[in-house]
Amino acid sequence: MAVNILELNKTYNSQLKCLNLLSKLRWGGSVKCTNCHKTDVRLYETKSGRYFCRSCKTQFSVFTDTIFEGTLLPLPTWFQIIGLMLNAKSSISAKEIERNTGVTYKTAYYVCMRIRVGMLMPETMLNGMIEMDESYFGGKPRKANKSKEDSQPNLSTPTTLRGRGTNKVSVVGMVERQGNIKTKVIEKLTKRNLLAMLKNNAKKEDSVLITDGFKSYIELEKYIDRLVVNHNKEFSRGIINVNTIEGFWSNVKNGIKGSYRAISKKYLPLYLCEFEWKFNHRNFSGNEFETYLRNALEQEKELLYWKAKSSDKVKKIAYEK
Ligand SMILES: [Zn+2]
Repeated sequence: MAVNILELNKTYNSQLKCLNLLSKLRWGGSVKCTNCHKTDVRLYETKSGRYFCRSCKTQFSVFTDTIFEGTLLPLPTWFQIIGLMLNAKSSISAKEIERNTGVTYKTAYYVCMRIRVGMLMPETMLNGMIEMDESYFGGKPRKANKSKEDSQPNLSTPTTLRGRGTNKVSVVGMVERQGNIKTKVIEKLTKRNLLAMLKNNAKKEDSVLITDGFKSYIELEKYIDRLVVNHNKEFSRGIINVNTIEGFWSNVKNGIKGSYRAISKKYLPLYLCEFEWKFNHRNFSGNEFETYLRNALEQEKELLYWKAKSSDKVKKIAYEK
């Protein structure tokens, strides 16, 4: 169900109210130290929501190890941006967030990236009829960026060519009919990589895989039953089609094209997970806002990974200058 932004602004109009919600979603009734996980803690400062742990003598807050860590942006604004992002049909650009909330572009960009990290979904095993297909993102390198190492494909230029070209990024997707989707950026579409993705994301019992005729999928038959759609001869044979996953690809590509001039290969997985979240919650009838927050508060490991990646980038840019 879409987030009612007006209602959200009314309900969570102060930092304290927002803090209370985060605290409730993260710890339920009893606050746990983020370091030693013990509950012998006391509130240290109400305004900032900081706690002191009597066991390990550290300070922490509900922000610690979450997407909100280190933020100076007031929580009501965070909540508003989360609401806008969840409501956007495909995607929303930082520029649009800037226009809607009045935060600077830089802040909007940073917050959107953090929010995307919070959209990473826990691993689920797909089953039943599963469509698997790959898609390629990116076009030719820009002229100024010719050297092989530096070239970043412009991912907003969609391509449907099955090029194993130097500059296209391949993404593999698996979708359960009427169910969830899982995508992964895979540098090399080898049989081995495809099989690993399949094993990690599909229950082989009672499942049937549907793919097109791409050679690398043949090997998967050793693991799971497979039906093949031959695009050269027919678009689909009744229920044997990859229409769901192809619909997803075109939605992602249109969304990226419409909202961004260019996105880098490095951050493509984060944009994909935003589209995945939207797809997987397309028929969700509960409170999506709270469901999102609960999920986001649990992305400690992912957050560390992406934090390392972004500081990596900062270093690289500084070095190149
Ligand atoms: Zn502690």
